Amino acid sequence: MNPSITLEQLTVALPKVELHLHLEGAIPLETLFQLVQKKGDPSIESIDDLQRKLTYTDFDHFIDTWIWKNAFITEEKDFEWITYDVLQSLAHHHVRYVEAFYSPSDYFGEGISTQKITEYVIKGKERAYRDYGIRCELIMDIVRGNSLDMCMQQVEDVEPYLGKGVIGIGLGGREQKYPADIYVPVYRKADRAGFRLTAHAGEAAGPESIWAAIKKLGCERIGHGVRAHEDPELVAFLSKTRLPLELCVISNVRTGVCPSLADHPIKQYFERGLLVTVSSDDPTMFNTTISREYEVLAENLGFSIEDLKRISFNSITASFLSERDKESLRSRFEREWNEVQDRFLTEH
Ligand SMILES: [Zn+2]
Repeated sequence: MNPSITLEQLTVALPKVELHLHLEGAIPLETLFQLVQKKGDPSIESIDDLQRKLTYTDFDHFIDTWIWKNAFITEEKDFEWITYDVLQSLAHHHVRYVEAFYSPSDYFGEGISTQKITEYVIKGKERAYRDYGIRCELIMDIVRGNSLDMCMQQVEDVEPYLGKGVIGIGLGGREQKYPADIYVPVYRKADRAGFRLTAHAGEAAGPESIWAAIKKLGCERIGHGVRAHEDPELVAFLSKTRLPLELCVISNVRTGVCPSLADHPIKQYFERGLLVTVSSDDPTMFNTTISREYEVLAENLGFSIEDLKRISFNSITASFLSERDKESLRSRFEREWNEVQDRFLTEH
């Protein structure tokens, strides 16, 4: 008989899907430290210095630190290294499938192109699949604040990779300052080309931003959507349509969007029948992991082990995989869950 395991070990061992993860925010700390050392920064002499740098007073401070970190990614080929290391670390957490964001425009200043970054990210993910069996599809993030022309061009540049590693388009950046309306033509173009659509909304801005992502951009999923509860009509709409939310609980506490874990509305959404999923967003930037996200649900937010299972299966349903791939992932998860759960339940 297998030995019993703790909640922490259970959440690492159970099979998971990540639907909201930024490759550049998930670079393992050791890899990021090597990147910083390559270029040099007098304020960062150790991994501890780096860890200290990654704490934020508010959402804008987080975005500023994000931009600081980007300066250390200087070559297109860095993206292969980053992607491989991120997926290796997720594979250690038993993540079987990832839909990962990457934001090429954050690096344009260095004379780097969307096409080249995409090619290196694809190389990294293919190598990780060969070594660890972890599957990853890419979502290119358009950044709020960039010109419409630049965003339109990016969609055109990434189109040759659609279905060959890239699956969708997302929208990130400063949500309060740049509303979704500006990007309607970008989403129309992406939709016509066959990209799947999501956008960060209802994180730094309120429910009107979520409505705009759904109604104006035609999003099939919402990145975060944590502030939906401010509009009961929106909650009713999300419950009825089962339009998925990519919730990232620890991220919301670290950026100050939620004052504390106890204030997070995820349990309320789950009980109201919304299609709730859980992801880690920027695990290195927020000192979290996907396993830890599941752990806090059980430890701090009143979720049972059966609820965690539903959430992990929700992520399969909410993914952009084909129905056939979803079915095969569900059968695999069912098998793996039974095995892991038995070991946990022998002790608890
Ligand atoms: Zn995000």
